[in-house]
Amino acid sequence: MNIAIIGAGYVGLVTGVCLANIGHRIICVDNDEDKIQKLKAMKVPIYEPDLEAILHKCVKQKKLTFTSSIKEATKKSTVIFIAVGTPSKESGEADLTFVENVAREIARNMDSYKLIVEKSTVPAATGKRIARTIQINLPKKEKITFDIASNPEFLREGSALYDFMNPDRIVIGVESKKAEELLREIYEPLKVPIVVTDINSAEMIKHASNSFLATKISFINAIAQICDKVGADVMKVAEGMGYDKRIGRSFLSPGIGYGGSCFPKDIDAFIRLSEKSGYDFALLKEVRHINEKQKKVFLKLVEDKLWILKGKTVGVLGLAFKPETDDMRNAPSIDFIQTLQSEGAKIKAYDPQAMPKAKAIFSKVIFCKDAYAVARGSDCLLLLTEWEEFKNLNFKKIKKSMRHAMIFDGRNLYDYAQMEKLGFEYFCIGRGKT
Ligand code: NAD
Repeated sequence: MNIAIIGAGYVGLVTGVCLANIGHRIICVDNDEDKIQKLKAMKVPIYEPDLEAILHKCVKQKKLTFTSSIKEATKKSTVIFIAVGTPSKESGEADLTFVENVAREIARNMDSYKLIVEKSTVPAATGKRIARTIQINLPKKEKITFDIASNPEFLREGSALYDFMNPDRIVIGVESKKAEELLREIYEPLKVPIVVTDINSAEMIKHASNSFLATKISFINAIAQICDKVGADVMKVAEGMGYDKRIGRSFLSPGIGYGGSCFPKDIDAFIRLSEKSGYDFALLKEVRHINEKQKKVFLKLVEDKLWILKGKTVGVLGLAFKPETDDMRNAPSIDFIQTLQSEGAKIKAYDPQAMPKAKAIFSKVIFCKDAYAVARGSDCLLLLTEWEEFKNLNFKKIKKSMRHAMIFDGRNLYDYAQMEKLGFEYFCIGRGKT
């Protein structure tokens, strides 16, 4: 099928590459001319495992092309996915400016039937607004039909291609048989369950899913706080809970709270949507509050143990908001580093993929070539992202090179008994060790 994907970011590019890989002809559009030039030269602007290799393959097979022209993409496609950003406004509400702009531009260039699919995360009832925008911007003389559909995306950065190709389910919200058939045909090669519903319900499924996952994270972080107070081990508590199939193990990892480009903004947007619809979602407000508090408590611990920050060197391991991505949007490292710097600490840092993006955010951070270079001369290490390569470091070597052997493990990556045996002052989350 001929498909256009508008917005070649983390979601749009992965969607385009995966759909091309299962046999469709894809044209990816972005209004960032620089990004399109890079993609045309087969340079991938983001880090995502396997993305570069599969993109190269699809481009060579002529199944994947790039353009900055929505006009060209609209003319060449039957199905058009909108995958542009939906950032937060000051109020927390989702800003749908990019979605509206794209819908208008598609409409003006339509000369035959199109199925326009929301892939971006949008508030419930956005489908109706897109339909209206298309209707009022269609070329006057022609009688053109179209459908709108919602097809929310559940991939996780860091395993985005795997998630796209192996989803637990695909959700499609449609208002016509034709739209349903087109979307079923697109996803048929994946052979996974497809939940078909109306557009509003599909949009709500995305809100509800992200909110539920964020709730699990805040729940286990709240449990971690209590574990610290009563001398229990949250890792064992999570394990014991997780075996229960009604609860499940995933998203029960205590840490410094969620970040990234999705959960914080999606939770804000859902709280606002609920308020506007007359429901005070107090539970979700508390989820957000616990998340903020979680970061502050850990930061306070670092400040407390280091005492005077002026003149001290803090070595930071991991900058991206999670492992296997270079995405720095809403990464907890930003608050941590900027606060510690404002109190006079010198920061050395290393991240396997996010350093190019981090360099545009931080000033005066010394970026190092690996974890060992970060440790050298540091007064403490602060682990903020649980990259695989940090799991098996040579801690004897690290201890020798540090000014003070102290580790703050924001992701409970290490075994505290082993760390203590090695002679580190070791602080983690919810293990009765703070
Ligand atoms: P992104 O910022 O990485 O990508 C968005 C892209 O859209 C950018 O490249 C931008 O240049 C482009 N764009 C903006 N306006 C445009 C226009 N008028 N014409 C063409 N291109 C335009 O964002 P993302 O992380 O890919 O997220 C996109 C959407 O998907 C958001 O609604 C997000 O909430 C949702 N989502 C994201 C994830 C994730 O893990 N990142 C997962 C599921 C859903």
